Amino acid sequence: AHLDRIAAVDGDLNAFLATNEEVSLEAARAIDARRAAGEELGELAGVPLAVKDVLVTTDMPSTSGSKMLEGYRSPFDATSVAKARAAGLISIGKTNMDEFAMGSSTENSAYGPTRNPWALDRVPGGSGGGSAAAVSAFEAPLALGSDTGGSIRQPAALTGTVGAKPTYGGVSRYGAIALASSLDQIGPCARTVLDTALLHDVIAGHDPHDSTSLAHEWPSMVAAARGGANPESLRGLRVGVVKQLMLDGVQPGVKARFEETLALMSEQGAEIIEIDAPHFEYAVAAYYLILPSEASSNLAKYDSVRFGLRVEPEGGGTIEGVMSATREAGFGAEVKRRIILGTYALSAGYYDAYYGSAQKVRTLIQRDFASAFAQVDVIASPTAPTTAWQLGAHRGNPMQDYLNDATTIPANLAGIPGLSLPVGTAAEDGLPVGLQLMAPAFEDARLYRAGAAIE
Ligand code: GLN
Repeated sequence: AHLDRIAAVDGDLNAFLATNEEVSLEAARAIDARRAAGEELGELAGVPLAVKDVLVTTDMPSTSGSKMLEGYRSPFDATSVAKARAAGLISIGKTNMDEFAMGSSTENSAYGPTRNPWALDRVPGGSGGGSAAAVSAFEAPLALGSDTGGSIRQPAALTGTVGAKPTYGGVSRYGAIALASSLDQIGPCARTVLDTALLHDVIAGHDPHDSTSLAHEWPSMVAAARGGANPESLRGLRVGVVKQLMLDGVQPGVKARFEETLALMSEQGAEIIEIDAPHFEYAVAAYYLILPSEASSNLAKYDSVRFGLRVEPEGGGTIEGVMSATREAGFGAEVKRRIILGTYALSAGYYDAYYGSAQKVRTLIQRDFASAFAQVDVIASPTAPTTAWQLGAHRGNPMQDYLNDATTIPANLAGIPGLSLPVGTAAEDGLPVGLQLMAPAFEDARLYRAGAAIE
């Protein structure tokens, strides 16, 4: 049914970069056969899963939205995908994304933009716009994404779905094509908080292949979501609202929905507390130094020899000539912009002024969170300052994209978990609005509990 749905609507949406009906159906039949033979399978066995193309898989190409990796086949599955398969989930396709996960609209994909199922002239957010659109349009009930600065939460908000960025290190990054290694986190998206929790439980846990993966016994997110699924569970919850996240640029309809949600929470006995996080206003600036620096280093491996594309300059050429012809042809404009920014920021003599300063700001933001969480249990904000914008509206002005991340970036800089869930639509355009909840590191379950109560 999901493959039929993809065939019916994906011509309009372009949420999928690859599907492989044969392998998907074969995997589904294998699950049916095991079940028929009386095997006890988990509750997700046989459920279709869309996989963001940032995760490498053996069954289909893995491109990370780039021409650089066109047709690339991985010899292994990313750990999150391997865990999903072990739980019986059926991979039904790889989803579109901004090239190397750089973007907030999926328009930076080398394979054309994904369209928002709510309005085909609007972006679905990014970088994981394909996964969010697929879930929103019922092409898949569950999807995997990656969140470096908001790429699971912001597309969830813009498509009326749920998305979670786990605590940094909570889900293995092994087999995730790296963007910025100190910020990248793999996570689940779905249409409800409980569905998101089901996938979260499957992919969480320690992985010896990822040196930053946490050796932690995670409590069940499903139990938290089920336990919270009752507005009364909000009683006594201390909810922080960060002054600095209620930016001037927040769209009126987004602000209205957010305030209405806070009022409903307060009616159920939650305590709303305004908090101050003085360094949040520097988060976007720090992020756009740290991310390009780490990305320029991670992307150095696309050298025409080890992976994917290789372009020979006319009349042959030196090794350097082949490398630069390949990188010129293989990378899109946003990727080049960030490689140049990052290379500059890391240059000898500039390190302290740029990367070093940005890392200090990061520490200050972590301290802002620590003092906030001494007063509150969760922090709430709009997930994104706006609803979905028209395709092309930010063309030529990447700063507009960067500023749309202002609300999601702080969680990545601090390594803490965040969850976005839909809270209705904006009056002015009828498009979905997302509520973001954040909790201290390791307290992901708190988000599912509160999220299920609000939902
Ligand atoms: N929009 C952010 C960026 O362009 C977030 C990217 C991400 O989370 N992968 O960097």
